[in-house]
Amino acid sequence: MQVALVTVGDELLAGDTVNTNAAWLGERLAERGASVERVVVVPDRVADIARVVNELRADYDAVVVTGGLGPTHDDLTIEGVAAAVGVPVEEHPDAVAWITDHTDYERADLVEGTTHLPKGSRMLPNEAGVAPGCVVEGIYVLPGVPEEMKAMFESVADEFAGETRHAVVVEADEPESALVERFAELREKFDVTVGSYPGDHVRVKLQSTDEEELDRAATWLRERVEGVQR
Ligand code: ATP
Ligand code: MG
Repeated sequence: MQVALVTVGDELLAGDTVNTNAAWLGERLAERGASVERVVVVPDRVADIARVVNELRADYDAVVVTGGLGPTHDDLTIEGVAAAVGVPVEEHPDAVAWITDHTDYERADLVEGTTHLPKGSRMLPNEAGVAPGCVVEGIYVLPGVPEEMKAMFESVADEFAGETRHAVVVEADEPESALVERFAELREKFDVTVGSYPGDHVRVKLQSTDEEELDRAATWLRERVEGVQR
């Protein structure tokens, strides 16, 4: 299953907020065997949200959108997603029922728009906040507040699946350029993907759906690189 992430927020583009939602979702989706193929950051602007979501939903099995769910002037995600699928935004009866049953808010106390979702969407309750999310045509709309986003993602995590890819990291205390030939041989000999991430030392991430093949590849590599002394 191939997934695209859209994170919405001017503050992410400005660098005021670090996009931890994208990192967390990338990790959780990979754990479930769903592969994240795109992460896009868009501003709080309906037309931009609509255009990007519409393009991505044509190319991927699911699109996960986070941020801009609340009822303030800069929360435009619901409108953008509704525009992407060509439906109006309207009060969702499940959202009204959930909020009045599970929070201290009465319908009259809610800021106008809090219970509005794209017509025909499935409401996702916000267990850690108020503003609900939704699912519509393979687009999963989650809050921006990390704690709320995580809780809501867990409620739909089962809907993201794929063949589990196992991963092993081998650390090498050598310059990355010196490892090139061993990487080539490794990829020739074993059915694994190889990612090379330099830093203080080189982290070599091997991945495969076949755990035994992965073990063989990791052992082969460990025997041929200078390990990191701790
Ligand atoms: P609310 O209903 O509280 O307005 P929201 O769903 O509208 O929430 P935002 O208004 O976009 O979400 O963001 C709420 C908070 O979450 C902000 O402090 C924002 O910086 C943070 N946030 C938003 N997106 C991300 C992200 N991708 N990674 C980390 N933090 C984020
Ligand atoms: Mg907001």
